[in-house]
Amino acid sequence: MSITGIKGMNDILPGEVETWQFLEEQARHIFGTYGFSEIRVPVVEKTELFCRSIGETTDIVEKEMYTFNDKSNNSLTLRPEGTAPVMRSFIQNKLHTKDPVAKLYYTGPMFRYERPQKGRYRQFHQIGAEVIGIEDPKIDAQVLTMLSHYFDAVGIEDVELQLNSLGCPECRPAYRQALIGFLEARLEALCDDCRRRYQTNPLRVLDCKATGCKEATAEAPSVLDHLCGGCDEHFSKVQGYLVDVGTPFTINARMVRGLDYYTKTTFEMVTNSLGSQNAVAAGGRYDGLIKDLGGPPLPGIGFAMGVERLVLMKGDKRIEPSRPDLFLAALGDEAANYSFALMSRLQRQGLHAEMDYEGKSLKSQLRRANKLQARRVLIIGGDELARQEAQLRTMETGTQETLSLEGIEKFLLSGLTPAL
Ligand code: ATP
Ligand code: MG
Repeated sequence: MSITGIKGMNDILPGEVETWQFLEEQARHIFGTYGFSEIRVPVVEKTELFCRSIGETTDIVEKEMYTFNDKSNNSLTLRPEGTAPVMRSFIQNKLHTKDPVAKLYYTGPMFRYERPQKGRYRQFHQIGAEVIGIEDPKIDAQVLTMLSHYFDAVGIEDVELQLNSLGCPECRPAYRQALIGFLEARLEALCDDCRRRYQTNPLRVLDCKATGCKEATAEAPSVLDHLCGGCDEHFSKVQGYLVDVGTPFTINARMVRGLDYYTKTTFEMVTNSLGSQNAVAAGGRYDGLIKDLGGPPLPGIGFAMGVERLVLMKGDKRIEPSRPDLFLAALGDEAANYSFALMSRLQRQGLHAEMDYEGKSLKSQLRRANKLQARRVLIIGGDELARQEAQLRTMETGTQETLSLEGIEKFLLSGLTPAL
């Protein structure tokens, strides 16, 4: 029996990978114009990095991590997200001593032991961005504007940017208490999970998908009514800047992010087209995280987009694989050798050229040219070669012309630009 891949971990095949490349190239391009540099960190980290940053009582740490002991008995974890590893690297490499502001982005696989379904996998991919060292709400607005710009650029329209503020260590405790008080009076209506966790992580109850929990918390106190002066001002300014630059958003005071490190501004890019997997991107400010991880007390803000969900949203607007500019069809050994050498020279000069390598019939070569959707076919027979001639067929129109092999390379290169 052949060996299969692991459930929830997918291959990305030709035909689909072009859309991935497009999404990644756009991120590089757009994030570059906002001054972001790429950072690459390992996919495995010490387990404690995630426990300390994401939080012991979060879904990720409680039940979703791929954790194992290596042969020296170190507890290691396949990264479930990118922010903690990037912060670990930032601190370890003392990047703040080189530049007080860091704008970084990353791409790559993340791992969570979740129930696989559409838009939810065990190995999935994120493109994420982080800014370290700026407290001013202008940077919140920049990051959100960049995110919104990205969605426009890749042609994903059915999304809404939702914004919230989760306060700071000064005002969040009072809100937590208010929420716990509210939940305590409604425990019977809550699901088992929420009844267990309402004390340790009351905000998560607001995020619960169970109908009972949703109904019971409909009138729950709003985090936005509990912000301290500083957080309130920060949040108003973020909104003001977004309005100034014309980045659309809505406020969702019930949005709680599943990770403990968030402070102040939090946000999600939400869609209606992916069922319950409705968040395509998510992020927020994490002003205490770098210090908690043993680094300097620098603020940070960032987001991560789920690439599989972006690909799903591209739907039938996917990027087509590149088509050959030229297919060389040859009859007879001599013509085949000539074609092979010509093809190799053309490829070296940037033309996407293909041929049949195995001396099949002309009919079968043309079939292959069709299958590959070659734009033009150069047919060289033995007699033609003797006359230093060839037939060039334009597939779309079916027109065919006789060309001299003299200077044909130059002609093909000038007449068949890859951007057709
Ligand atoms: P969800 O609420 O869907 O579980 P999340 O809050 O756990 O998402 P984050 O940790 O904020 O997600 O990750 C950011 C983005 O990564 C999500 O918006 C989503 O697009 C993507 N993502 C998260 N988990 C998965 C997964 N298991 N499979 C595919 N994409 C995922
Ligand atoms: Mg999740």
